[in-house]
Amino acid sequence: MRIPIADVTPETTEAEIIGWVHEVRDLGGLAFYIIRDRTGFLQVTIVKKKAPETVVEATKETSRESVVRVFGTVKATEKAPGGRELIPDTFEIISKAESPLPLDVAEKVPAELDTRLDNRFLDSRRPRINAIFQIRSNITQSINDFLFKEGFVNITTPKVVAAATEGGTELFPIAYFEKEAFLNQSPQLYKQMMMAAGFEKVFEIAPIFRAEEHNTTRHLNEATSIDVEFSFADHNDAMDLVEKIVIQAYESVSNNCENALNTLNVDLKVPENRFPRITYSEAIDIAALGIEEDISYGDDLSTAAERAIGDEMGEHYFITDWPTSIKPYYAMPFEDQPEICKAFDLMHPRMELSSGAQRIHQYDLLVEQIKEKGLSPESFEFYLKPFRYGMPPHAGWGLGMERLIMTMLNLPNIREAVLFPRDRHRLVP
Ligand code: ATP
Ligand code: MG
Repeated sequence: MRIPIADVTPETTEAEIIGWVHEVRDLGGLAFYIIRDRTGFLQVTIVKKKAPETVVEATKETSRESVVRVFGTVKATEKAPGGRELIPDTFEIISKAESPLPLDVAEKVPAELDTRLDNRFLDSRRPRINAIFQIRSNITQSINDFLFKEGFVNITTPKVVAAATEGGTELFPIAYFEKEAFLNQSPQLYKQMMMAAGFEKVFEIAPIFRAEEHNTTRHLNEATSIDVEFSFADHNDAMDLVEKIVIQAYESVSNNCENALNTLNVDLKVPENRFPRITYSEAIDIAALGIEEDISYGDDLSTAAERAIGDEMGEHYFITDWPTSIKPYYAMPFEDQPEICKAFDLMHPRMELSSGAQRIHQYDLLVEQIKEKGLSPESFEFYLKPFRYGMPPHAGWGLGMERLIMTMLNLPNIREAVLFPRDRHRLVP
């Protein structure tokens, strides 16, 4: 019976393992095969004069990254990883790997990101890469658990849609029978409609599609968005919730992913309980001191501006009180100062993580804001209609899953946080 490699201890007497040949060291009369499964490594030691003929023959045929089954006696030894080695009685090749390998799983030879992504199945055999996705899985689980516990209802909204969420740019048109259709850039309109449906608290963790032209280390064309919308709540409630979600994700990884963090060499600091909140106007002042190009009130924050503010803040923070003119039409303006709205961005020093707001729930105001942005209310009729039949006040946000992972683990490129990234040049695998 096969056992996981991590279960083979110096006290084990006999073991059968199945795994990949991670490394081969053949010293002539003596050979070492390091076998790897997802739980760890085990050294198989072969003294050629003593080993059964069939074992010696099989190992001759074996290449790195082949899948092998090995059965034998376990011996304690200081010299091998985990303080034990396996002396094989049988050694069987289950699935042979071609040589040479497209990339070196043992990481002795570094590989370019493109080569790695082209061979993601092999790249992901590397414990470091596997660790990223173990952590991603834990984050998904912890956020689901947290939101279910808070009474949120998990929803699934359409990804094939007839209208843009926020106007035309960034959209991928698709062929949909006789009609024009697009891949959805955000579940925004649908999660708001579920407020009109009386669900009160909803969330969705799902893909969003954005035809971002630029090739950056923090944009994907297909990303995963953690979206939340809840009723009888304002922007402050929304900020409190996204803050909690981020902190609990760090806590969960810190508590449950010790091995993966060690593999990645990440010393995870769980952020302090409250993130500082600065206004957009304060953010502009900080940016103006820190960057060369001109920036003034009403401008969107450039990458350089985000960096400068991030350097100054040095931890997660919120930017609040944005000019209504640069936030989407559905952000609620302050009653006493409508040129500012109840929108916020959650920032990590390296980049934006989340955008949210209290939303407009009044039909007339919403129509006015849509027109203000140069959009036509007619194309949003399916979205506007619910606002005429009892829409509760509500707020929400979208948090980028990959950016959360990337900033948490200090990954250099957002593509590291996705199994099969989609960007301008990459549609395969
Ligand atoms: P940015 O200005 O950084 O491009 P955005 O303001 O366009 O982001 P939003 O529309 O506010 O993004 O989306 C909410 C969140 O979704 C962002 O804060 C980010 O975490 C994530 N997100 C948006 N677009 C992308 C993308 N192309 N790739 C990865 N994550 C994204
Ligand atoms: Mg944003």
